Amino acid sequence: MASSNFIDYVKVCSRSGHGGAGSSHLHRDKRTAKGGPDGGDGGRGGHILLRGNAQLWTLLHLQYRKHIIAENGHNGGPAHSSGAQGHDEVLEVPLGTIARNAETGEVMCEITADGQEVILTPGGRGGLGNAHFKSPTNQTPRYAQPGEPGIEEWVILELKLLADVGLVGFPNAGKSTLLSVMSAAKPKIANYPFTTLEPNLGVVAYRDYKSFVMADIPGIIEGASEGKGLGLRFLRHIERNSMLLFMVSCESADIADEYNILLHELETYNPELLDKKRILAVTKTDLIDDELEAEMRAGLPQDLPTVFISSVTQKNIGKLKDMIWEALNS
Ligand code: GDP
Ligand code: MG
Repeated sequence: MASSNFIDYVKVCSRSGHGGAGSSHLHRDKRTAKGGPDGGDGGRGGHILLRGNAQLWTLLHLQYRKHIIAENGHNGGPAHSSGAQGHDEVLEVPLGTIARNAETGEVMCEITADGQEVILTPGGRGGLGNAHFKSPTNQTPRYAQPGEPGIEEWVILELKLLADVGLVGFPNAGKSTLLSVMSAAKPKIANYPFTTLEPNLGVVAYRDYKSFVMADIPGIIEGASEGKGLGLRFLRHIERNSMLLFMVSCESADIADEYNILLHELETYNPELLDKKRILAVTKTDLIDDELEAEMRAGLPQDLPTVFISSVTQKNIGKLKDMIWEALNS
């Protein structure tokens, strides 16, 4: 995937700034020989922040930024002057980004909204200047706090897509083609398995300027949930899709059987996926006639809405949109 534009996983070293040291200073001017302590506080070290950006779809822009370093806080100065804060470093990330500690795997935060800001790695606090330590018994403290050190940690940023509709089907079921027909996305389409090695997103325009996002996920192969093949790495993209569109080609020997295999794959991976609304589309129906279609209809699973479509002739594409919209909004 080295040449791919779709990056859903990056590992970065995140280093926040050290806090500036407090100043230890005694006031002096031409009329005052022994003034009191007037050392200012050190500034806070810069944070490393994550900010959600709805315009971004991938983590590509972070792929070559191994080290993210925020500025250190400045030291405090004489005459109660505080040191400046270190500049925060902001990483813009797509919605659906999850940050994990690379060592423990623990989830640190999750970005789900545009403009949402989260402190990933907090900067060190600035130290207090000696002016704070003045007391009746020690009026000229000659010590000040050092700044708190910043934190350096390895962080994994992972992207889970937030699409509304996830396309689920074996390779060659026609997922990429449908996406290209329904949206402006132009996914790679070819007549061999694993054409799609990266999920493609498309925004599908619906009536009255409404729209939904559809994600074409690389074909699930049998046994994917056990980690075989490419499936597993991509399955996590559909965990958050709010509904699933199952796609089975009309060329399939047994449509209900193929649907059940897909269902089983999802269940083994994550049973919660079965809580999502489902629609089954039988694809490429331009290849069969009405008679055959009627015959097939009898053998379809009964527990979910089904539709016969063709991306080539656009048959029932409008109806499919209606069904998806209804499922998303009911
Ligand atoms: P994916 O692996 O599920 O993404 O499948 P693709 O969209 O790449 O399609 C696989 C093959 O099926 C390609 O050769 C497409 O041209 C073909 N195909 C897709 N949709 C249709 C359709 O509606 N009718 C016909 N006849 N062929 C189709
Ligand atoms: Mg494809």
